[in-house]
Amino acid sequence: MDRFTYRDGVLYVEDVAVEDIAARFGTPVYVYSHGTLVTHLRQVADAFADLAPLICFSVKALSNIHLLRGLAAAGAGVDVVSGGELYRALLAGVPAQRIVFAGVGKSDEELRYAVRSGIRCVNVESEGEMRALARAAAECRMPAGAAVRVNPDVAVGSRTPAKTTTGRRGGKFGIDLDRVHEVYRLAVDDEWLRPEGLHFHLGSPVFHPRAYGDAVDKVLTVTEKLTADGAPVPTINIGGGFPADYEGSGVPGWSDFAAVIAPKLRSFVAAGGTVVMEPGRSIAANAGVLLASVRYLKTSGSRNVVITDTGMSHLIRTAFYDTFHFLWPARPRNGLSPVGRTGEHDQPDLARYDVAGPLCESSDYLAKDRLLPSLRPGDVLAIFTAGAYGMTMASHYNSLPRPAEVLVDGGDVRLIRRRETYEDLVSAEVDAEAGPAAAGTTKPA
Ligand SMILES: *Cc1c(COP(=O)(O)O)cnc(C)c1O
Repeated sequence: MDRFTYRDGVLYVEDVAVEDIAARFGTPVYVYSHGTLVTHLRQVADAFADLAPLICFSVKALSNIHLLRGLAAAGAGVDVVSGGELYRALLAGVPAQRIVFAGVGKSDEELRYAVRSGIRCVNVESEGEMRALARAAAECRMPAGAAVRVNPDVAVGSRTPAKTTTGRRGGKFGIDLDRVHEVYRLAVDDEWLRPEGLHFHLGSPVFHPRAYGDAVDKVLTVTEKLTADGAPVPTINIGGGFPADYEGSGVPGWSDFAAVIAPKLRSFVAAGGTVVMEPGRSIAANAGVLLASVRYLKTSGSRNVVITDTGMSHLIRTAFYDTFHFLWPARPRNGLSPVGRTGEHDQPDLARYDVAGPLCESSDYLAKDRLLPSLRPGDVLAIFTAGAYGMTMASHYNSLPRPAEVLVDGGDVRLIRRRETYEDLVSAEVDAEAGPAAAGTTKPA
């Protein structure tokens, strides 16, 4: 459910025609719907209401501080995976007690930053990290919440790409089930650490509620043993990975996940335990589109190739994961609104296109062999379901400045990140000998 809809043959986000945004701010531009973000957050909370979970939105899915501020105001906490994301969260005003920090390779500096900031907990991913966190807390002379990220070794099913599966034995994430007890005890026995509980994150997207059920079962077994051993487990964090509907073909919804997960955790919550969830994609993906403009049309052999002004450096998912993004003109020339996201095939008057970006890289496509209304240079295309892992994975490859970001709330339109300039591309490229002002100048021989 989102608020990107065609009305009279024109695409709107909430109450604003996206072509007006393209005209005002240029393309490529990411456009987000505040109403959709907040609605999705509320849907998770409603589906899991009997667990009253703390919902920690995953910053790596979508990290603009103005969007984080809106989610925090709606009651969300955040899940961060680096000091940089923690910086964003604090800047956005997320209360420290609603911030959890995962990641396999945290530095001492990041751990001290987390401790000093007084966040809810660090989700520790190795024994070495638990010891590093204890040192950081001792150095800061401040208590620190420590949870253990468990590798539950559960199957998530073949629809989850191998590149985004994180909960199998042999991988780099979390701590093997049979070692969790001993690492958790380090937190229990430490002077500065406060044991905060257990965490898992299975990967993304995970389509089978049963995978979560299996992981919860395993974590509850460890919880019982720890509790019997006098080690408190106040929190169970079930991570993120809930799917978003990219293809319009329907994916399991919140109620499907809640039906499997919630009954298993009810007695844990009744006994005073807290459940944390870390959805990212499921909240953000359908809350954003990327607008691009058609630059050139050509044929290559028998194929129609459209070259747009955006590509893999702005939205890498198709090139990297081989995933699907629906796309359609903001104002189709034949007036045809898309019928769902796959039903366009039933419509007359469509042509087959390969939609490519401007980069010098053969994987730089947004879509291949797609039936679309006829296109001309200057047409604005909307690339849907781009709100998650879109801008956050954007790079400067080919030295293309990154897109602007715009937030729509009802009829209100706000620029929340300006388009980058060529100066932005080189602003960090200082010459240590010549001094920081040297960018753009040539050092004398
Ligand atoms: C990436 C990540 C998430 C969010 O995953 P989504 O698929 O976007 O919901 C949650 N928790 C952790 C630890 C992550 O690394």
